[in-house]
Amino acid sequence: MDARLEAVRDTVLARNPGESEFHQAVVEVFESLGPVHDRHPEFLEAAILERLCEPERQIIFRVPWTDDSGRVQINRGFRVEFNSALGPYKGGLRFHPSVYLGIVKFLGFEQIFKNALTGMPIGGGKGGSDFDPRGRSDAEVMRFCQSFMTELYRHIGEYTDVPAGDIGVGGREIGYLFGQYKRITNRYESGVLTGKGISWGGSLVRPEATGFGTVIFTEEMLKTRGSSFDGQRVVVSGSGNVAINAIAKAQALGATVVACSDSSGYVVDEAGIDVGLLRQVKEVERGRLKDYVLRRSGVSYVEAGSVWDVDATVALPCATQNELDGGAAARLVRNGLLAVGEGANMPSTRDAVAVFQEAGVLFGPGKAANAGGVATSALEMQQNASRDSWSFEHTEQRLTDIMVGIHHRCASTADEYGDPGNYVLGANIGGFVKVADAMLAQGLI
Ligand code: NDP
Repeated sequence: MDARLEAVRDTVLARNPGESEFHQAVVEVFESLGPVHDRHPEFLEAAILERLCEPERQIIFRVPWTDDSGRVQINRGFRVEFNSALGPYKGGLRFHPSVYLGIVKFLGFEQIFKNALTGMPIGGGKGGSDFDPRGRSDAEVMRFCQSFMTELYRHIGEYTDVPAGDIGVGGREIGYLFGQYKRITNRYESGVLTGKGISWGGSLVRPEATGFGTVIFTEEMLKTRGSSFDGQRVVVSGSGNVAINAIAKAQALGATVVACSDSSGYVVDEAGIDVGLLRQVKEVERGRLKDYVLRRSGVSYVEAGSVWDVDATVALPCATQNELDGGAAARLVRNGLLAVGEGANMPSTRDAVAVFQEAGVLFGPGKAANAGGVATSALEMQQNASRDSWSFEHTEQRLTDIMVGIHHRCASTADEYGDPGNYVLGANIGGFVKVADAMLAQGLI
């Protein structure tokens, strides 16, 4: 790493002890930025990096609620408003027991670059809670969401900060959160949250957008080698929103998705995952992946194993951070891997990324490959602002154009900085320069 950046990195790591995921995200970005600072010494003089690593605002709050047996439960809520140089803070809310400040900060930091790459006027932020919605009744989830919003509402707004979904936060949770915001503020402010239901301000394609976008980005990478999804053998991790829609899109483009997973195990379905059945089990019945196996013949289920043991030509990690390590990456490479498109945020460890890059595997980092979700959230904000709603075809075409544009921006930036095909470098530099220019123009704030 560039010596000038090393000093800044050391300060950032020392100022944020114990936040390993945030450290990982910062170090990965810093490793790409040396050449930018050779060309733009003004970024160093204005301490752009130091400022970028310090969130503009961090909010941590108590979320008290009662469960169905009347017992009081206490969770912790977070919203990190990281950077507003390009627009209002924008990024999802994650409800998962693993959530703590370090995870929210890594996600918020990544979001700054991702949102810049989309070319839309949105800043970076992220939030969530250590609340676990799995196994909770609808009434418990509603009471939790209402309590969470009773504090969060004072910090967000259409022009300030616009949350959306992430792990554990889907249409149901966004509905309860929006209802409580409307009730407290007495305003029907559609643009305050994205991922809303279609009949009350949501956008068509938003539920599909992250998974679809990941596949579109990966298809663009494959095209650079004269290939496509058609005929590929694909493995997807996760079986949530991003995973299901990535599976659907990859199969629509002619691939066979032979495996997917949840945190308990994975399914191998050599005939190709039945997306309709998977949606029924996971989205309608809120069941476990194990239930998929009970309803389909010729399918096997591996309890507690790693889905990356299944060989594939394309891997789409769509579950969570650091789910694919160096050993798994080496196994995938040995088994004939061509491309990786990250649907999740930072699912590959730094070792895994190094293995992919050394082996010449096409590697699309999450901040570029999964940006279709937030980009379509920005399209939802556009529709809300103009009191309009667009057709599925029009919105999907906008998403496709945006993903092709992000691919082009990453690839051309990597070319410009002398490392063709390095999408990590292209995404980090492409996102950073846009934000840094705006921060410079807006003065020392
Ligand atoms: P969901 O909650 O819909 O699904 C998450 C999936 O990942 C589930 O199958 C879950 O399994 C699995 N998973 C979660 N945590 C773990 C874990 N610790 N170990 C193993 N498996 C795990 O979330 P999304 O699909 O929305 O999000 C998935 C990823 O995509 C996240 O990294 C998120 O940040 C990223 N992302 C999401 C966007 C969106 O629009 N939703 C936008 C951009 C990125 P289980 O049910 O067993 O927990």
